This record gives sequence, C-alpha cells and structure tokens, in this order.
Amino acid sequence: MPPSMETAIRSSIFNPEHETLRASVRSFVERELAPHAEAWEQAGDFPDWVFTKLGDAGYLGLAYPEEVGGQGGDYISTLVLKEEMARCGSGGVGMAVAVQTDMATPPILKYGTPEQIDEYLRPAIKGTKIACLGITEPGAGSDVANIQTLAVRDGSDWVINGRKIFITNGVRAHFCTLVARANKPAGHHGFSLFLVPTDTPGWTVTKRLDKLGMHSSDTAEIALDDVRLPAGGLLGVEGEGFAQIMWELQGERLVGVAGSIAGSQRLLEACIQYAKDRHAFGKPIGKNQAISHRLATMATEIEAARRMIYDAAWKFGSGEYPVKEISMAKLYGGIVASRVANEAMQIFGGAAYTMDLPIQRAWRDSRLIRIGGGTDEVMREVISKLMGL
Ligand SMILES: Cc1cc2nc3c(=O)[nH]c(=O)nc-3n(C[C@H](O)[C@H](O)[C@H](O)COP(=O)(O)OP(=O)(O)OC[C@H]3O[C@@H](n4cnc5c(N)ncnc54)[C@H](O)[C@@H]3O)c2cc1C
Repeated sequence: MPPSMETAIRSSIFNPEHETLRASVRSFVERELAPHAEAWEQAGDFPDWVFTKLGDAGYLGLAYPEEVGGQGGDYISTLVLKEEMARCGSGGVGMAVAVQTDMATPPILKYGTPEQIDEYLRPAIKGTKIACLGITEPGAGSDVANIQTLAVRDGSDWVINGRKIFITNGVRAHFCTLVARANKPAGHHGFSLFLVPTDTPGWTVTKRLDKLGMHSSDTAEIALDDVRLPAGGLLGVEGEGFAQIMWELQGERLVGVAGSIAGSQRLLEACIQYAKDRHAFGKPIGKNQAISHRLATMATEIEAARRMIYDAAWKFGSGEYPVKEISMAKLYGGIVASRVANEAMQIFGGAAYTMDLPIQRAWRDSRLIRIGGGTDEVMREVISKLMGL
C-alpha cells in the first residue's frame, strides 16, 4: 500500500525518534489527561499535578538541553508534544502547557543567567514551578509598543508598577516573564524583560476572567503595585526587551497554530466518521456531495496549513528566523482551524449544538487562535511589511 499523504509530509521533518516520542506522548495524554478533560472543563480549572506529571515524564523540557534539566531534543520534538496535546480534548490544558514550555520559558534559556536558569527554568521543566507570560495590558494588546507598565531603578533594585490582562496561568503561576517599560522613554529600545516571583509583595491577581472557551485554563488580570525586584530580576539586556519578546512571539505563534491544526485534524476524523454513521433520507449523510465535498475541502485546507506549519517549524528549529513563514502559517492555520470547527458544527447538526458532544468546545476553543499571540490583522500587518509595503 502506498504511504498516506500525511505519512509522507510527516517524514519530511519527523524522524523515527520523533515518532517514538509521539507514541509515548499520545499514550500519556490519552491515559492521564483525556479521561479528566470533561470534569476540568466543567470545573473551569485543572489541577497543578498535570504540570508535575508532565515534568516527571520529561515532556516539559523536550527541546531544552540536558545541562538545564531538559531532554536535549530538537525543536520538532516540542511540536510533537503540541500536536499530541490536542488529544486531551480540552484546549485549555494544551494552551496552559504551551505557555509553560514555549512561551514563558524560552527567553530564560536564551537570555537568562545561570542563577535565573536554576531559579526558574529548571523547576519549570520539572513542573514544580508554573510560569506565565505578561505582555498584554488593558491599553496594549496588538500595540505591544504601547506597554505602560513601568520599571524604575531604585538603588540596585527595580520597582515595577502597572497592569496586565489576559494572562494565561496567571492565577496559579509561581513566576511571570514580564515585559515592562524600563527607565527609558517610549520607543522600541525602552523595554526590558523581568522575572517576577508572584509572591512578591505588590503582585495581585485582581480578577480571574470568564471566557468563551479554553475553560480549563485560568486567565488573569494582574496589578503590580510597587513590586520590588533585586537587580537579578532583569532578564537579558536592559532596553532590548522588545526584540526579545518579538523573538518569543514567533515560537508562541508556531506552537499555538500547530496545536490548533492538530485539533482540526481530530475534528475532521470525527466528522468523517459521523458522515458515514449518520443516515438521512435513507443513506449516510456523507453520500451527499454537499457533505463529502465539504469534508474534502476541510482535509485540503488542514493539509495546506500543516505543510506551512511544518515548513516554518523546520526553519525555526534550524536556527533561522522565519517571521514571514510563521506569520503566514499562524494567519492561514488560524482561519482554517476556525473554519473547520464551524463546518463540523454544521455536519453534526443539532447534536453539535448540545453540550453532550465536544463539537461546541472545539468551536469555542478554536476561535482563540485568530486573536491570541497576535491577531489575524497583526499577522497581515507583519506579512505586508515584509513584502515591502
Ligand atoms: C484566552 C486568552 C489568553 C491570552 N493569554 C495571554 C498571555 O498569556 N499573555 C499575554 O501577554 N497575553 C495573552 N493574551 C492576549 C492576546 O495576545 C491579545 O488579546 C491579542 O494580542 C490582541 O490584543 P487585544 O485583545 O488587546 O486586541 P486589540 O489590540 O485591542 O485589537 C482589537 C481589534 O483591532 C484590530 N487591530 C488592532 N490594531 C490594528 C491595526 N493596526 N490594523 C488592523 N486591525 C487592528 C485587532 O486585530 C483586533 O481585531 C490572551 C488573550 C486571550 C483572549
């Protein structure tokens, strides 16, 4: 039998070790996480042991070097984790774990001191410290350069004041990788990154936000009032925080859309099965072109998005900085993920609209990718600038 198209594409970036890893992550997710997904969605939270169990299995440090407690794998191995987390059945769990592995901690490896690596990165890889990433503010989402949170030097300390919003893991996090304006006037060289322990006096979770989807993941509003950090709280080079966080966002966008498209693939498979099983007018609904062609379009778009993601991931993992490819993959993959969920809603009919089936959750969860980590419009802005416009 000829290899399936999916196998052929996969083999272009995944080697046999990746496939072994995929099998073990898949069995972990199906055994340890998926059985709880429904309860966690209902509760609006999942327990912290998810992080420690993932850490014990080595999954929180797949692409981190062994010297810092990681597994020493390549970037593609973290992509495998993101894809397989989609089998959990709760987008919020996958997102929370992605914040831990691919958003809040990569800047620590890249820019951190040995002390910061010991204090934050090693425990994050073990799952004993939970991380969040603090970029967005009430007045600065897409417009990251408008961040107003201010860090001022006081002797050798930093004193930070400001507000952050939409912070994933923010309610439970032990530390935050924070972006603030630091001592400098406006402009791209006015920002710095900080590592802030969340038990520092002046750090307050002011609200846990209620959301349309991603119910099992917590999303916080944070107030920083005279949060005092020692000099060692600065992460990386003072004044280079904007470039540092733009680098972080590339990885964030890539794993975000990879997880979304993996979810779309699962949804497509469920739709194909339903189209065979569900009968109307004396035949399976999939025997109507209106349904079968819809499924063919969904499969084609998922395939195209996946190829874009794999291409960008391969380049990013090889040390390139493929901003255009990542932005295109995030833009297109996000639209596809959202469209596939919408089509699934139609194919499943009334059943999809009930809370008994997980279609409604996929529909709600998948919508976020077109907003979080940079909206569709921001992606188009980045792409068009790189086209010289
Ligand atoms: C569930 C969830 C989790 C999140 N997790 C985190 C997190 O962990 N850490 C974090 O820092 N942030 C997080 N975010 C924030 C997220 O990244 C922002 O919501 C996103 O970047 C958009 O910012 P905004 O919501 O302020 O929208 P705005 O920037 O106010 O944009 C509103 C609309 O205007 C459009 N727009 C803005 N500027 C332009 C322009 N120049 N041209 C055309 N259209 C434009 C946008 O595309 C959008 O459609 C999270 C958000 C959500 C909803």
